[in-house]
Amino acid sequence: MEISDASSYPGHADEVFAPRGEEELAAILAQASNENIPVTVMGAMTGLAGGASPQGGWGVSMTNFKRLEVAPGRAVVGAGTLLRDVQSAAPANGQFYAPDPTENTSSIGGNIAANASGSRSFRYGATRAHVLSLRVALADGQIAEYRRGQPIDFEVPAIPLPRTSKHSAGYRLSPGMDFVDLFIGSEGTLGVVTQAELQLLPAPKEIMGGVVFFPSEEAAIDAVERWRPVPGLRMLEYLDRGSLEIMQVPQAAAVMVEQEGEIDLDMTDALEDASWFGTSPSDRERFRRFRHGLAEGVQERIHRGGFMKLGTDYAAPRDKCREVVRIYRSTLDRDLGIPYVMYGHIGDAHLHINTFPANKEEHARAKAVLDDLACAVVEIGGTVGAEHGLGKRKAHLLRVQYKPDAIEAMRAVKRRFDPQWLLGRGNLFEAG
Ligand SMILES: Cc1cc2nc3c(=O)[nH]c(=O)nc-3n(C[C@H](O)[C@H](O)[C@H](O)COP(=O)(O)OP(=O)(O)OC[C@H]3O[C@@H](n4cnc5c(N)ncnc54)[C@H](O)[C@@H]3O)c2cc1C
Repeated sequence: MEISDASSYPGHADEVFAPRGEEELAAILAQASNENIPVTVMGAMTGLAGGASPQGGWGVSMTNFKRLEVAPGRAVVGAGTLLRDVQSAAPANGQFYAPDPTENTSSIGGNIAANASGSRSFRYGATRAHVLSLRVALADGQIAEYRRGQPIDFEVPAIPLPRTSKHSAGYRLSPGMDFVDLFIGSEGTLGVVTQAELQLLPAPKEIMGGVVFFPSEEAAIDAVERWRPVPGLRMLEYLDRGSLEIMQVPQAAAVMVEQEGEIDLDMTDALEDASWFGTSPSDRERFRRFRHGLAEGVQERIHRGGFMKLGTDYAAPRDKCREVVRIYRSTLDRDLGIPYVMYGHIGDAHLHINTFPANKEEHARAKAVLDDLACAVVEIGGTVGAEHGLGKRKAHLLRVQYKPDAIEAMRAVKRRFDPQWLLGRGNLFEAG
């Protein structure tokens, strides 16, 4: 059976199971372990790294894990529950769930496995910062429960982290860390998350939103640098000229903002009269759809082209935002020679580049250019994967981010939890 996630990374499984609860899941994992069958965990398949595309063996869909209970300060959520369902349940008791990966049809299990983030991570951090506890089915079928703060019971070295405000590339290891942090971002390679307890925050009383247009990229970045420290600002998203073309808006650059309280931003050089502002939830939803429409439009164009997604998820340290945009533009305009767009989470110096190759030669060239950019980003303290994980499509970038001893430390953790190397085979590391 052919199966691919949203990146079109080719996958196939001999069988796909959709267990109805932990007991069934545990039995499937125990059998897979006895018979040495690889198992790939499948959430909502919106991933962009090929992580949920099985490479043979069994696929295990978490779609039936749909528990959703909201209480003051927290929600208990089954791994297959969709993000949008958590987002719409949270307002009970005036609360909200802060992480906002823009694809709200993704599952909470997938969000945890990729340490997803998105637009509001600029203020609230990634999924990692909002998980209070996890239930996990381990490779041999045992079910474990881990609470925030429960330390791992084995030694790991400290893995050097990039200086970025977001990071999701490889295991996060540090001596004395907790189990919850180990499983978050592990991309289905250490265990299957069945349920999570998520933190809910008090909902802000008033939120203003806007899409602010600028006559140039330079002017937009100047504004981002001015606005980043403004209190209450919770979203800074960028759309370049090519992105706006896809959305049929004839402008050079846009920055999408959300601020808790009244918008109080210095609009120097902004095209204020052409810009859109709104206070109501429906205005914000319109802006959100506009922003997400771009991500979907890009996906559509990639699928039409018939090639696997060739885009980046790199982030730089926030103080290197201007520098990284300069590096991207000069390299892409000099070496790429095909259409591309650049957009995303500029508050975190985290811009996605997506390329649109029309043939194999262009695809190979674009891949080489984007791989070169990965090295350039790491050189200035950045990450090769900020929110999508590396999956299979970008597993080769683990070696760009980390030295061999750090990768060996991660592999040792993988062997401890999954000695037969059955879970998420091909994600992050080659098997072995
Ligand atoms: C148009 C578009 C826009 C997007 N925008 C964003 C964005 O702004 N921010 C962002 O962070 N991401 C974004 N994404 C990527 C994607 O939505 C996220 O990576 C999301 O977290 C994937 O969730 P999923 O349920 O679809 O996971 P899947 O694609 O099904 O799986 C992703 C990975 O998680 C593993 N996994 C899934 N469920 C579990 C589980 N229960 N236990 C253990 N491992 C599991 C899989 O094996 C795989 O490795 C976007 C995607 C699209 C298509």
